[in-house]
Amino acid sequence: MPRRISERVDSIKPSGIRKFFDLVMGRPDVISLGVGEPDFPVPWRIREQMIYSLEKGITSYTSNHGLPELREEIVRYYRKFGVEANAEDVIVTTGVSEGIDLVLRAILNPGDGVLIPEPAYVSYKPLTVLAGGEAIPIPTTPNFKPTYELLMRYAKGSYPKAIVLNYPNNPTGVSYSKKELEEIADFAIELDLIVISDEIYAELTYTGKHISIASLNGMEERTVILNGFSKAFAMTGFRIGYVIAPSDIVDAMLKIHQYCMLCAPITAQIGAIEALKGCESELERIRAEYMRRRNFFVKRLSKIFEVRKPDGAFYAFPKIDSYGLSSEEFAERLLLEKGVAVVPGNAFGDCGEGYIRCAYAVSMEKLKVAVDRIEDFVRKL
Ligand code: PLP
Repeated sequence: MPRRISERVDSIKPSGIRKFFDLVMGRPDVISLGVGEPDFPVPWRIREQMIYSLEKGITSYTSNHGLPELREEIVRYYRKFGVEANAEDVIVTTGVSEGIDLVLRAILNPGDGVLIPEPAYVSYKPLTVLAGGEAIPIPTTPNFKPTYELLMRYAKGSYPKAIVLNYPNNPTGVSYSKKELEEIADFAIELDLIVISDEIYAELTYTGKHISIASLNGMEERTVILNGFSKAFAMTGFRIGYVIAPSDIVDAMLKIHQYCMLCAPITAQIGAIEALKGCESELERIRAEYMRRRNFFVKRLSKIFEVRKPDGAFYAFPKIDSYGLSSEEFAERLLLEKGVAVVPGNAFGDCGEGYIRCAYAVSMEKLKVAVDRIEDFVRKL
């Protein structure tokens, strides 16, 4: 019988995060530092706008691009990260997940290389493969920064078309300064690369200020910005995000989006308008709370492991290799013996081996219990 499943799909592995998520389901004793899901409710004023729109029966499709008012708001909002765009440069997507898929499918020909500094968010590599490209991992451990020299070393001998950046980073929490971004920009310009910049954690920056790489000289015409509402506004279930891109790439992405998605859900788009218009004080409160948790959690973790203080997002990525267990063994035993779920670092690329990812998007009370349990677990190893 001929194989029913495509070779491309057959070649990719299911997400290493989901596996741990499934293990935790139905176990109320477990504290999950596994999945990057905010524990705040969506700010009330956003929910209220969505409820009003449903009461008015606003439930239709929108244009493929997304609601004009939302695209205008996105353009206005992105000025704070140094980017001057037009509403025509924006497509509203069903989350950043769709944005990643769209851009890779829009730009890649079979065999085109995509540079992926690792540890990296789990979807870049498989979506590159599904789009027919070749993922080229660049290990950035131990300091998690893709420097000009490092990038050049790995790009040599391959023919990359694009590089994926994600800062603040999932899973390391690392962000980049203007100088570091300029180095990456120099590299991208020299190799004539498209930069795919996943800025979903931009609002959750605690050290320094988020700068979009698109705002640097010569970068606007080669950068595809991805952002969304899942993290800062906790709108994970609404599936809403956006891309800002040069016009030729927008046109190409729109062709795919109009056939595979048509448009993002209108209720979520209405909520997103309110998020950008009226949630500055909620954002400040949420950011301050995550920062409080980061400070507490990382201080405690640093007594147990070597760990870098994250600049943003809500993940800590401690090094656990001195305990003689692989990342998977460590995560599995911590879950089974102490009821704390974390994600093994190798889920984010080979160079993540020897680390674990802990999401601190849970209450202080739970964080305290979790870190006590981790300490106890390690003491008995
Ligand atoms: N990009 C990064 C770096 C993420 O961490 C996540 C979710 O964890 C996503 C994209 C997916 O976001 P969305 O919910 O907008 O699809």
